[in-house]
Amino acid sequence: MTLEAPPMVDYRALGRAVAREDAAPAAVEVDRDARFPHEAFARLRAEGLLSAMIPVEFGGGGASLTDMAAVTEELGMACASAGMVFAMHQIQINSLVRHGRSAALDELKREICRDQLLLASATTEVGIGGDVRSSSCHVQLEGDRFRVTKQAPVISYAEHSELIFLTARRNSDSPPNDQVLTVIRTAEIELERVGEWNTLGFRGTCSPGFIVRGHGPADLILDDPYSDISGRSMLPSAHILWGHLWFGMASQAVSQARGFVRAAARSKPGTVPPGAQRLAELMVVHQQMSELVKGAAARYEATYDDIDAQTSISFAVGMNSLKVSASTLLIDIVGKAMVIIGIMGYREDSKYSLGRTLRDAWGAPLMVNNDRILGNNAQLLLVSKD
Ligand SMILES: Cc1cc2nc3c(=O)[nH]c(=O)nc-3n(C[C@H](O)[C@H](O)[C@H](O)COP(=O)(O)OP(=O)(O)OC[C@H]3O[C@@H](n4cnc5c(N)ncnc54)[C@H](O)[C@@H]3O)c2cc1C
Repeated sequence: MTLEAPPMVDYRALGRAVAREDAAPAAVEVDRDARFPHEAFARLRAEGLLSAMIPVEFGGGGASLTDMAAVTEELGMACASAGMVFAMHQIQINSLVRHGRSAALDELKREICRDQLLLASATTEVGIGGDVRSSSCHVQLEGDRFRVTKQAPVISYAEHSELIFLTARRNSDSPPNDQVLTVIRTAEIELERVGEWNTLGFRGTCSPGFIVRGHGPADLILDDPYSDISGRSMLPSAHILWGHLWFGMASQAVSQARGFVRAAARSKPGTVPPGAQRLAELMVVHQQMSELVKGAAARYEATYDDIDAQTSISFAVGMNSLKVSASTLLIDIVGKAMVIIGIMGYREDSKYSLGRTLRDAWGAPLMVNNDRILGNNAQLLLVSKD
């Protein structure tokens, strides 16, 4: 079979169009009502962006993680919740593409491309918290099918998704870190909602807890062990895509601070407003964040097929450090922008308001807590010979 080359798509431009035309106009309402960003996702589906990273042979766009990072960044400037949902979906796609090889998983890739299915994830677990490399629940194999019950404290957009990627122990005898990643169809499982999602930020991700009672064909369990999927794909792609989302949010805050300082300069021609010096300082940190997230994406692409490089301790420490740095820089940048803008940034009813960005920003160090990530790095550094 000869495959046609994928058409050249300018993913950043496409992401910018969706962000400006569909995500931004709904962002205030999405945040206020803690509702799903339907408008952005209707457009993302219509543009085929939910399957953009699936190889062309299955009907996808053959895009790279860097392409999807650019779309995520653009969405982040308009609506952090829409950007986060897009990022989380692409994290699962990346794992499926790299670690799902069975005929059933290949068929699933085709289905995702055809029907633009949305993928959610249940990796954290009640009693285990953000230690995603441990599971308490397990997969129960029954002939060629499996069963699983998981108490998930948070599953973003579960009720708006078609598929959930769920971690569990391989079987009832497996230790907590012998995990598999399996796909379950939301329509075929019981999702018992536990509580509401009423948070400071990322309100449109619609992420309450659930007891998941799922089942499905055993060949929807991904081929590689989760330890491999996590280290080579899920963790680095999460930190790269989240980093770009947070950079988009930071860029929005910088743009508002810049607009404020320029307006102040225009109102008193011939003078340099006091915020100008602080704006220059802010741009230094903004550039630092840009280099950080784009450098990490480039490193990931450069080692894409190099299993030794991507399973090395230095790679894991670097990708963990990216998450800690990017989330810390985001809060620093939004805080600095707030000081520049002053009361007009603090007000909720001003065009320079930073309220939503500030609330969303505080989700970054908590979603897989930075302390937990630093704890993981501390252990890795103890055994590292690098
Ligand atoms: C917007 C958003 C969306 C999310 N979406 C999903 C999703 O779709 N699917 C999903 O599975 N999860 C999701 N999560 C959950 C998230 O990934 C959390 O990590 C998880 O819920 C655990 O939260 P926790 O605060 O109890 O963290 P824990 O990791 O249990 O940490 C609790 C406290 O213990 C401390 N602590 C824990 N371990 C250590 C350690 N080793 N060293 C030092 N201190 C430590 C931390 O500092 C923290 O104070 C989402 C979270 C957010 C914010």
